[in-house]
Amino acid sequence: MPEDSRTTTIQEVKGASHKSCMIKWQKRWENSSTGRTFYEFFPSVEQKRHLDDPDKATYGVILQLQTGYSILNAHRIRVGINASPLCECGALESTEHYLLECCIHEAHRGELLKALHKLCGVTVLDIKTLLNTDDHPYIPGWRETITSELSKYIKATGRFMKKQPVSDKPRSDIHN
Ligand SMILES: [Zn+2]
Repeated sequence: MPEDSRTTTIQEVKGASHKSCMIKWQKRWENSSTGRTFYEFFPSVEQKRHLDDPDKATYGVILQLQTGYSILNAHRIRVGINASPLCECGALESTEHYLLECCIHEAHRGELLKALHKLCGVTVLDIKTLLNTDDHPYIPGWRETITSELSKYIKATGRFMKKQPVSDKPRSDIHN
């Protein structure tokens, strides 16, 4: 027997251990009864792990938008926080509203569409394009580019940087 085939390197052990761990994790993930909304976007834990890459704060916001539990007002009321579900513009502040509709973020949304059209051939913004994890069958790096451009939009709008939404502050105007 050649020397090479009898020798197990540390890399091989680490690789096998990692693979075994990932399989277990994937099974637990598939069988888990919690996080179903999240699972729809992340059927593979390998995909989920990519979110450990740089800019955790913004990726965290993307995860919140995917799961429907964020500081957006329509989400806050869902988790029992007694606040108005409305956006400052007056419409229900849902994920769709924040990403696709709100007039407050219109300029940033225009920039997002412009960039995605140029880089990824996207002509219309929709939730699946922005928040799903599917890659493009022909364009390499398509999903990473969309996530990167979406991150820029999230940062540019500043919506998730506010420490306390207006609706949480005492409303002095409604006491009389
Ligand atoms: Zn709005």
